[in-house]
Amino acid sequence: MEFVDLKAQYERIAQDLNIRIDAVLRHCDFILGPEVHELEASLAINTGVRHAVGVANGTDALQLALMACDIGPGDAVFTTAFSFFATAEVIPLVGATPVFVDIDPETYNVDPALLDHQIGRVMDEGRLKPKAVIAVDLFGLPADYDRIERVCAERGVFLIEDAAQSFGARIGQRKAGSFGDLATTSFFPAKPLGCYGDGGAVFTNNDELASRIRSLRLHGKGEDKYDNVRVGVNSRLDTLQAAILLAKLNVFPDELERRENIAAAYSEALRQTCVVPIVPDGYCSSWAQYTIRIDSKIRDKVIGVMGSRGIPTNVYYRRPLHLQSAFAALGNHVGDFPIAERAASSVLSLPMHPYLSEEDLAEVTTALHEAKECTIA
Ligand SMILES: *Cc1c(COP(=O)(O)O)cnc(C)c1O
Repeated sequence: MEFVDLKAQYERIAQDLNIRIDAVLRHCDFILGPEVHELEASLAINTGVRHAVGVANGTDALQLALMACDIGPGDAVFTTAFSFFATAEVIPLVGATPVFVDIDPETYNVDPALLDHQIGRVMDEGRLKPKAVIAVDLFGLPADYDRIERVCAERGVFLIEDAAQSFGARIGQRKAGSFGDLATTSFFPAKPLGCYGDGGAVFTNNDELASRIRSLRLHGKGEDKYDNVRVGVNSRLDTLQAAILLAKLNVFPDELERRENIAAAYSEALRQTCVVPIVPDGYCSSWAQYTIRIDSKIRDKVIGVMGSRGIPTNVYYRRPLHLQSAFAALGNHVGDFPIAERAASSVLSLPMHPYLSEEDLAEVTTALHEAKECTIA
C-alpha cells in the first residue's frame, strides 16, 4: 500500500499527459511557455481570483509574497507554531522575525484570538513592527478566515494564506487560495494538486501585488527581461510542469470528491476508537492528509505495528516550529505553545490519496484497531 499513490493516477491520465508533454517537447518554449500562461488562467478561474502566478515551488511562493509586501528587517511576521518548516523559514530569509502563535486544538490551524493577542503584545513591546500574518490551511482544512481577516484588518497587517496543502478546499463558495492579500500554493508531487517535480503559485486580487510578483520571479524585471527595476530571484514554474498540471486539472474535481468519500469512510470506521479530524460547518477540506490523534504514549508502537503489516503512516509534524533548532535564537521554550506541542506528540496521518480502494481502507482501519488493542494490552 502507498501513502500517496502517484502511479495509479498516472495510469488514469497517461494518454492526456503524454500529449501535453509531447507538445512542449515540440515547441521547445521551456521557460514561461504557453502552458504556463494557460495554467495561470485556469488556476485563477478555479480559485476565483484575478491573478495566479506560477513560481518554482511553494516555499519561493511564500518568500515572493513577503518580498512583494516589502517585509524585511525590524518587521514581525506572525504564524502558526504547527506547520511545515517552510512556512516560517521564509520569514528570516527576508530578514524579518517570526512570531509564533498557538493553534486551535480541533482544527490545528492558528487560533484567531491568540493571534490578535500576540500582535497586541508585539505592538506594546515596540521592538518589532507587526507587518504580516501567514495563516496555514493545515492538512487541507482552511483556517478561520472570517476571524483572521478581521484581526488583520483591525491591526493593519498583511494577510498571506499558505494554501500549500489546501488547493481545492473552500469555506462556503470561497476557495482556498483566495483568502488574504496574497495566497500561495505548492505543486510538490504529494500535495493535493501535484506536478512531477517542484512547482508553486501565488494568488492575489491586487493588480499591483501581482505585477510585483511577476517581476520578482524574473530577477526583478521591468519592461523587459534586461531592464531590472528591483532585486528579485529566479523562480519560474517550468513549462513542462505546467503542462503536467493542466492534464491533472482535468481529473482534479473527481479526485477531490474521492478524497472526501475516503475521509468520510475513515471517520465512520474510526470515530469510536480515535480522535478523527473535525471539519467545521460550511468548510470543505482538500484532505491533503487524513490525520487522527492517539495517545502519545502508544503512538510509536502503533506506527511500528502498522508498518510491520505493510501500512505506511506519517507524523506531520513531530516538532512544532518554535522548538526547531534553526529558531533557537528566537528564545522560545517547551511549554510556550502547549496546544501545538500536544498536537505534535499525538497526531498520526494515515494513507490518503484518491485511488485508495475499499479493501485498502478496511485494511488500514482494521490494523489500526488491532494495533491499538495490542499496544494497550
Ligand atoms: C509543502 C509546503 C510548503 C512548501 O512547498 P514546497 O513546494 O515544497 O516548497 C509550504 N507550506 C506548507 C504548509 C507546506 O505543506
